[in-house]
Amino acid sequence: MADLQLLKGVGPKQAELFAKLGLTTTQDLVQHWPRKYIDYSKIVPIGSLEPGLVTFVGSIQKVSGRYVRRGMHITEAVVADETGSTRLTWFNQPYRAASLTRDRPYYISGEYKLAAGRFSLQNPVLEMLSEDSVNTARIVPIYKETSGLTSKQIRAAMTQALQQLAHYETLPAWLVKQYGLTEYTKAVKSMHFPEGEADLAQARHRLGFEEVFGLSLASGYLRKQQRLQPAIKVPFQSDIAQKFARSLPFTLTDAQKSVMWQIGKDMQLSQPMNRLVEGDVGAGKTVVATMAILMAVMQDLQVAVMAPTEILARQHASTIATLLKAVDLDNKVGLLVGGLRTPQKRAARQAILSGDMGVIVGTQALIQDSVDMHKLALVVIDEQHRFGVEQRKTLQKKAGHMPHVLSMTATPIPRTLALTLYGELDVSVITQKPIGRLPIKTNLVPPSDQPKMYAEVITQLEQGRQAFVVCPLIADSGAVDAVSAESLHKKLSTSTLKEWRVGLLHGRLSAEEKQSIMQDFSDHKLDVLVATSVIEVGVDVPNASILIVASPERFGLAQLHQLRGRVGRGNDQAYCYALLKDAAKPSRRLQAFASSHDGFKLSELDLRLRGPGAIYGTLQHGALDLRIAQLHDRELVAAAQAAAREFIDQDEDLLQYKQLAATVARLQTVTKLN
Ligand code: ADP
Ligand code: MG
Repeated sequence: MADLQLLKGVGPKQAELFAKLGLTTTQDLVQHWPRKYIDYSKIVPIGSLEPGLVTFVGSIQKVSGRYVRRGMHITEAVVADETGSTRLTWFNQPYRAASLTRDRPYYISGEYKLAAGRFSLQNPVLEMLSEDSVNTARIVPIYKETSGLTSKQIRAAMTQALQQLAHYETLPAWLVKQYGLTEYTKAVKSMHFPEGEADLAQARHRLGFEEVFGLSLASGYLRKQQRLQPAIKVPFQSDIAQKFARSLPFTLTDAQKSVMWQIGKDMQLSQPMNRLVEGDVGAGKTVVATMAILMAVMQDLQVAVMAPTEILARQHASTIATLLKAVDLDNKVGLLVGGLRTPQKRAARQAILSGDMGVIVGTQALIQDSVDMHKLALVVIDEQHRFGVEQRKTLQKKAGHMPHVLSMTATPIPRTLALTLYGELDVSVITQKPIGRLPIKTNLVPPSDQPKMYAEVITQLEQGRQAFVVCPLIADSGAVDAVSAESLHKKLSTSTLKEWRVGLLHGRLSAEEKQSIMQDFSDHKLDVLVATSVIEVGVDVPNASILIVASPERFGLAQLHQLRGRVGRGNDQAYCYALLKDAAKPSRRLQAFASSHDGFKLSELDLRLRGPGAIYGTLQHGALDLRIAQLHDRELVAAAQAAAREFIDQDEDLLQYKQLAATVARLQTVTKLN
């Protein structure tokens, strides 16, 4: 790796500035992709210049410099070609005049606009005419800069670094050929100095392909390793399945049935299932999981069900037991959570050991519990996208084999994203909701409409319904301009809704307090619950018909949609109100939220508007650090995925491709964390 200082014009001082951008070698430099581009490629005669960004060829006719008031310096020049002339002005560049040679043509680029009654270009870019211009007469790259290091200086260094770039290829030759990719070195060069739009598009495609390919390889290898572990075969008993389905108080949707069937097929194999079920809030995932649980329990095997919170774990234990009552297996369901008293805990552990407890419901702390589970065949994880590699290993040790894993999430993950990020998982989507559900009426409420809104809320409360009020903060913060749960709770309970029982729930309360407040709301001992997003996941209170979101601009689209899913879980009309902070036109995000109920559509939009890092960043520990690929580019993602599968199936030697191997190694440590 050549040091940047070997480049002409890069001394120790400038090298330090480059280092500030994280660039120390020429290899780093050539991968410092442009932030954007300015198109100066179209050259027009001076006589036909129009306002805006322009490029032309002109000769300097005259040039003069002078100081005006308070030491400000102005350089003025007149340039001309055969069709006309115009003026150039530079501010505070006293050296300019001397650097310009008269009567010889330059490329000149900049903004042509009216200033002091005349059209001119201020601080234009000038470059001698040449075959390969760098700063004008082409699509010009703009880089992330740092104080003292401009894009122009970066371009100068880049040109040299690219000239020195030895011809090499990071991907296997067959792959480059088969997928019609531009070769690596060429793509890198075109990324910085594209010959045109099409050339740039090809370069982006090639380098974006490589990014997604790296991600897909990382998860592909993970998948391959996981599949080598032995698992217990769980036969699918269709007579039992039918009996169970008939016992339900509702008819299963076709989508639910088809996902149940996929899961059934997976569990019959001796290689472990690793399936993610995505289904919008209220799609009915619990019953789908219960079918899988049933099949395992019928074989006298055990199942661990893990929820993100103790509240949800308790709720699941009771729902699953109710569902299994019809097949007389409700007594197999038990709870193992931190909140249990010691004797209860001891009894639960005993029941697990003896096998009396077939369905063990708890939080993720179940993994840490010392009890061993030799008959553990299936793990169900609710509201999580992925069950970490390390967590699976721990369970494997406990059970002596790899259990089948079923994860469920209501966060609709756009397909392209799921493929790249969760490539080691099989993904099923519950594509439809139970029939008869009314879409939730969503309103964006400006401050002036709040009194009217509260009147509507009170009407609902009078009809015996309940309301959630969600705030982004627990307590007021000087640093963040948003409504807090504490302050809104105070306001509602002492004035706006003072006739009603208003509770407060947030993450700073103890587990017991949270549990008891949630229970009170469930039992309708509270009418209104002011909360932070702790209520986001899974909480099921069918009588709640209203959701008010304060400071909605502080939540992501996917999260808002998830919150909205807390209501409308029965057959009655439900309402969602998003409180706008002022009378200004709501953002595109909020408008989309109000007009669409399609979680997948909303998350696709979120992906486009905010990018994957912004949405899933905290979950992914940087795995989504894609610099070029656009994850909503379906074709690109599909092709890169297919290529990764081929690469793995053909037993290609990864280590032969150094840059690729490094990427995969980095991504694997990243994805193992979650
Ligand atoms: P989620 O997918 O959000 O976890 P749940 O499993 O909690 O949804 O189901 C939401 C509600 O819908 C529950 O009250 C459940 O009993 C009910 N439900 C599930 N499937 C159906 C169906 N096919 N028809 C009608 N109601 C259903
Ligand atoms: Mg659920």
